[in-house]
Amino acid sequence: MNKDKRKLSLFGIIGYPLTHTMSPYLHNYVFEKMDLNCGYFPFEVKPEDLEKAIQGARSLNINGLNVTVPFKRKVIPYLDQISEEASQIGAVNTIKNQRGALKGYNTDVLGFSRTLKKINFNLEKSKAIVLGAGGGARAVIYSLIRKDIYKIAIYNRTLTHARKLAQKMGKKLGFSKFACHSLDKTDKLREDLAKAKLLVNATPVGMWPDPDKSPLPDGVQLNGHLIVFDLIYNPPTTKLLQGAKAKGATTINGLDMLIYQGVEALNIWLKKEINSNLFPDLRNYLIEVLANGSA
Ligand code: NAP
Repeated sequence: MNKDKRKLSLFGIIGYPLTHTMSPYLHNYVFEKMDLNCGYFPFEVKPEDLEKAIQGARSLNINGLNVTVPFKRKVIPYLDQISEEASQIGAVNTIKNQRGALKGYNTDVLGFSRTLKKINFNLEKSKAIVLGAGGGARAVIYSLIRKDIYKIAIYNRTLTHARKLAQKMGKKLGFSKFACHSLDKTDKLREDLAKAKLLVNATPVGMWPDPDKSPLPDGVQLNGHLIVFDLIYNPPTTKLLQGAKAKGATTINGLDMLIYQGVEALNIWLKKEINSNLFPDLRNYLIEVLANGSA
């Protein structure tokens, strides 16, 4: 179809750095396949320019934005409204511009829970370890609590951030079974890994362009009984997942989560169900782009 480029709807992602992102491939693929007059662009924004970038998006009438590291929490004060769920989580990964009024949503929750559902993993009465206490970790924790997890141990580089998360989310969601530790508490982490069913990496450690790094402290080994979920999708097999696979653990990377959260963002922006028949080809396309090192 010959589309009027003057009426192109604009979407994009803000983050810093943005070298890892696959979102422009994902969204532009869907726009093309659904023959939509839309374009999606990466906007690398320096942390000190975040407020100006949000004002700019409003003035330029950008229709929607995704938000990635390190802005999922920091962006909230610059928005006009946030959804009930994003407010409970305390993080926004999707913004919709409704005639100049910016509303924040969190679609990472759905991305994470749908991915867990796909592997049919029952979390009831089990214990999970979450590495990280930022925007992604919050969506993971919200989702785990909704799935009746018994206990969550949060390990974070900055202990006070983990404690603040546990205090605030615990109060909002009526959940008290948190334990918070500094990421270098090696002995405690070993003990927790022996008892936990699920380990989630919600830090960017190991992400492109630093694939040789692992969020686990040196000398900490994984066990074969674990499910290890790394939210990172670029590279597809992080150092953490390599170690987990070597021990016989079940491993999941962030690619399905990326697809589910991205498609949900499209539903919000376009008010249009994205045909799920597209998913397998979209997934293969993203795997191919990653394998070719284009991202
Ligand atoms: P964020 O809000 O900036 O939070 C980052 C977290 O990682 C913080 O807890 C931070 O600790 C910790 N961290 C950062 N650098 C670290 C380092 N060098 N060593 C140890 N800990 C470090 O980021 P985010 O949005 O949650 O994203 C985290 C990761 O999840 C990214 O790789 C992102 O791409 C991925 N993610 C993927 C999906 C998906 O759809 N697959 C969705 C969401 C997130 P401090 O508190 O000490 O700063």
